[in-house]
Amino acid sequence: MKQLRWGNPEALRELLCEVVSWKSMTLTEGEREFPSKVMVELGKVDFFQKHPEYLELHDADLGRSFLTALYKHPNASDTVVLISHFDTVNVEEFGDLQEYAYKPEELTKLLFDRMDELPDEAREDLLSGEYLFGRGTMDMKMGLVMHMGLIEKASVEQWKINLLLLTVPDEEVNSAGMRAAVPKLLELKERHQLTYKLFLNGEPVFTQDPGDRNYYVYSGSIGKIMPSALFYGKETHVGQPLGGITAPYIASFLTQRMEWNPSLQESVLGETTPPPVTLQQKDLKLEYSTQTPYRAAALYNVFLMKRNAEEIMELFEKVAQDAALACNEAYQEICRAQSATAVGAVKVLRYEELQKYAQQKLGAAFVQSVKASVQGKSEWDDREKSFRIADTLMIECQELAPAIVLLYAPPYYPAVNSSDDPLVKQCIDFIKNFGIEKFGLPVHQVHYFNGISDLSYVNYQDAGEGWTVFKGNTPVWGTSYSIPFDEMKQLKAPVLNVGPFGKDAHKRTERLHIKSAFEEVPALVEGMVKSIICKEVKC
Ligand SMILES: [Zn+2]
Repeated sequence: MKQLRWGNPEALRELLCEVVSWKSMTLTEGEREFPSKVMVELGKVDFFQKHPEYLELHDADLGRSFLTALYKHPNASDTVVLISHFDTVNVEEFGDLQEYAYKPEELTKLLFDRMDELPDEAREDLLSGEYLFGRGTMDMKMGLVMHMGLIEKASVEQWKINLLLLTVPDEEVNSAGMRAAVPKLLELKERHQLTYKLFLNGEPVFTQDPGDRNYYVYSGSIGKIMPSALFYGKETHVGQPLGGITAPYIASFLTQRMEWNPSLQESVLGETTPPPVTLQQKDLKLEYSTQTPYRAAALYNVFLMKRNAEEIMELFEKVAQDAALACNEAYQEICRAQSATAVGAVKVLRYEELQKYAQQKLGAAFVQSVKASVQGKSEWDDREKSFRIADTLMIECQELAPAIVLLYAPPYYPAVNSSDDPLVKQCIDFIKNFGIEKFGLPVHQVHYFNGISDLSYVNYQDAGEGWTVFKGNTPVWGTSYSIPFDEMKQLKAPVLNVGPFGKDAHKRTERLHIKSAFEEVPALVEGMVKSIICKEVKC
């Protein structure tokens, strides 16, 4: 038998440290360079020496790329897609230890001198010797390393199945990498005659509560969407406050009702989404003046499980109508008490209605030019651009004010779930049994991965046309942001996430459980893939 480069825990640990040392924070040069380094590393595997055409870099956006590596068995069409992201969050919180964030072995040793700076649990874990600290160790370079080891082993042992390793940038910000990969997955499927059986991600286990030491596998991934609002009031001078209505005043009614609103929570299969929360609320005035702020914006975060963009918009609209009503009543009462004339009642409209109105009034070309000039501001991100487009249209359509304009700001991660899928059930049964038999490790199933993942962009299910509501109400749709819903629908295979155990993703104390990462999980995934082969060829 040929020697494996990454066939034992020590080799995997070395590979992880190597891969962590390739800094790849989202939107940095390192992120752009990372996939070609993986390509070089995978290119050393015999199979890819013989078949370099199966190892490919593809364009994402902003000079970034994603990598695919296909292990193809000559007589198999069944394919497991191994998904990972290689970008990491930044390392500011490491302070003077920043340069060690990318050197797990050194950082872990160094932390023994800094024990009093660590939270209790992190200190205990450090002393136990069971953890390796460092940026990206847990989230999620270990997932990629595990997939590299798996594809090498499959190719050397000639497993009768195909494995397609896919590793993408930008998961931590907008998932531009995964959204670009979706059409490519369809293309590769045609080109190599693949049948996708399973989309297997390797995101780490996220503890459900502090101190939770349970090992979980996930048969789905929670969705996230950002219903947002532009508040357009009527300007006035501070000396005549009742001559207008400020945007912050209107906003306060909606934000009060959106934050923690249980009508925007969901419970499915015994799991419940966290309640919505405000991510941003600000006025759009560019500098201080004694003119009152009459334009403001708010961004709310909503998690989803079964609901889609259409259902969320309907619920959001109800909340907004309720807020407008309360705002109007309160305002009328003040006007009565102060013998002032109200400037009008706040109404609620969706962005698509505003856009249609503006197109009729000013022409489609005008709306296009507004979008184009906002897109020209490269210093604005997609959130800011969304508000600025709606804002500029409202400035030209002030007869609609005072108003709350409802819109969606990117990103949108649709929820996905495969708990009922027979293959996923079989895989989870296998992992549960194997975990106990081989490692004495109890494995628990969670239906929705709670950390947000790229699995959101495969196996899209929407009986109706729910996504058209997202498209119509996202001002930056089709320019700086889009989601390949049609292609996602065609990527019909169940999803599963099996990754290593770790703690404190995105924190200075990010750490990976050594035994879980280098021994248990690689063995569980290998056994699981073999069990899929066995089922298909009846062995
Ligand atoms: Zn991650």
